[in-house]
Amino acid sequence: MLLKRFLPDLHVKSIYDIDFTLLKQRGVKGIITDLDNTLIEWDRPDATEELVEWVEEAKRNGFQVVIVSNNTSSDRVSRFSASLQVPFISRAKKPTRKPFLKAVEMMGLDTREVVVVGDQILTDVLGGNRTGIYTILVVPVASTDGFFTRINRMVERRVLRIMRKKGMLNWEDES
Ligand SMILES: [Mg+2]
Repeated sequence: MLLKRFLPDLHVKSIYDIDFTLLKQRGVKGIITDLDNTLIEWDRPDATEELVEWVEEAKRNGFQVVIVSNNTSSDRVSRFSASLQVPFISRAKKPTRKPFLKAVEMMGLDTREVVVVGDQILTDVLGGNRTGIYTILVVPVASTDGFFTRINRMVERRVLRIMRKKGMLNWEDES
């Protein structure tokens, strides 16, 4: 079913609720993560201490982390990646499969050994699912979005409403 492509494998409140131990047990070795409203508010210029610590913790657990962002500001994405000391792909054009496959290749892993983390079902979840990667949806860090994301959200709300009606969602509505 087409709708299934928009369905994440897991839904958590925030990246801080991701269970690293469980991921390791599943054989996960790499985390492909979105930047804006997933790791940090889309309009916040610098990483928080909490975020830096989370990335450190992920690395201590043996995970490779790659930031894959549709943000067209390479400056923003590269500055974040530098402060977190992780590689990145900006202007990624999610939900195409290419940036996900590229990130997997950068890590030297298999698609079955990575997860995709993101806040949007139209880019992160759809793209991850199309690539055959385990997808984790987080609640957006901020309740506001950049211009293009606002358009995506309108479609997203509609898709979520249909999925909820069909009983496909096992989490509560946050809005
Ligand atoms: Mg995002």
